[in-house]
Amino acid sequence: MARIVMKFGGTSMAGIERIRNVASRVKREREAGNEVLVVVSAMAGETDRLVQLCREASALSDPKEYDVVVASGEQVTAGLLAMTLQGMGLKARSFMGWQLVRSVGAHGNSRIEAIERELLDEALHGGTVAVIPGFQGVSEDGRVTTLGRGGSDTSAVGIAAGVGADRCDIYTDVDGVYTTDPRIVPRARKLDFITFEEMLELAGVGAKVLQTRSVGLAMRENLPLRVLSAFEDLPGTEVVAELGADMERNTIAGIATDRNEAKITLTRLADRAGVVGAVLGPLAEAGIAIDMIVQAASREGAESDITFTVPTASLHQAMAVIETRKADIGYDEMLFDPNVAKVSIVGVGIRSNPALAATMFKALAEARINLIAVSASEIKVSALMTEDQMETAVRVLHTAFGLDSRPDEKAAGAAA
Ligand code: ASP
Ligand code: MG
Repeated sequence: MARIVMKFGGTSMAGIERIRNVASRVKREREAGNEVLVVVSAMAGETDRLVQLCREASALSDPKEYDVVVASGEQVTAGLLAMTLQGMGLKARSFMGWQLVRSVGAHGNSRIEAIERELLDEALHGGTVAVIPGFQGVSEDGRVTTLGRGGSDTSAVGIAAGVGADRCDIYTDVDGVYTTDPRIVPRARKLDFITFEEMLELAGVGAKVLQTRSVGLAMRENLPLRVLSAFEDLPGTEVVAELGADMERNTIAGIATDRNEAKITLTRLADRAGVVGAVLGPLAEAGIAIDMIVQAASREGAESDITFTVPTASLHQAMAVIETRKADIGYDEMLFDPNVAKVSIVGVGIRSNPALAATMFKALAEARINLIAVSASEIKVSALMTEDQMETAVRVLHTAFGLDSRPDEKAAGAAA
């Protein structure tokens, strides 16, 4: 007998017919002799609707009341699922977030501090399925809180860790985690295994399968996750701490894209110590995160250009900050370009195999993709390029790393 958490997303809970489908999956796990906790999302679109209602009620709504409103979608689906399970002859009951999930931090984006497990243990020992609304918690002063958009994944992981579950299965509208966004590469392949680290780096890829915060939490708790289709019986993707011998791959895990970068270039800076700090210091003070940086000295060595990227949304603020420091920094011109994109290869193998990075640059060069900047971390190598070259780059790399699915394999996204 195992103790398992099953989490169902909004698409799987949208309407009574789908809730019945969820209930039969829960029943199957229960009949296999497992202790089962189910964490549910609101019906698809419901949270958006509630957020909109808050905006209409008051442009600056009280965050405490915002949480009261937006947490309600999960209350409805939890009650409906418990009823449906009872109707199928199972023992089941719902719990509300305020009974179980103590949270800290700002309303609308709070974090799980602790899980009160007594009620849950009691229910599970008595053979009852515990149905729990995701996304909700309770603050120290007894008010309803929510965990940020997409927070039900984090609820599921937090609850699984809190009750000592053996595993946490995330049921969703795709059948797993893919090597890249299937909208760019239709022959993207579903991964059987991925590590937590890789998953965190790939979080920006296409369909946001899991809330990033939930992956970080699962990694810290060393709680294995599975991402599975709620609609088809397919093996899904296992998210694990390390790849075991049977999971080895001699290529990368996948390719991430990020259009949300903008480039700033400052020309003809004095080539002196401290110049990079003079540029980046004020940006850091303004809370603007810099991602990639390249400094290129001129041939004479007296002057250099510096190019760096910031999130597109911060571009104008970043330029304003630099403008005010023009005299200190001492540059000639400030150039900018929001139409750049970052393409990254991600994989734990990058750490030990330099040939993987070499393959990347060879493939991009052969496709005549001009690199504006490059950066690397332990398990990721990123290249910045113009946005119109991004999709070609992803396709070329997907092929170069041998990730394309064979024509006889099931096409990506066909499950959804
Ligand atoms: N219903 C919430 C949202 O849409 C939480 C979730 O589904 O994970 O953000
Ligand atoms: Mg989600």
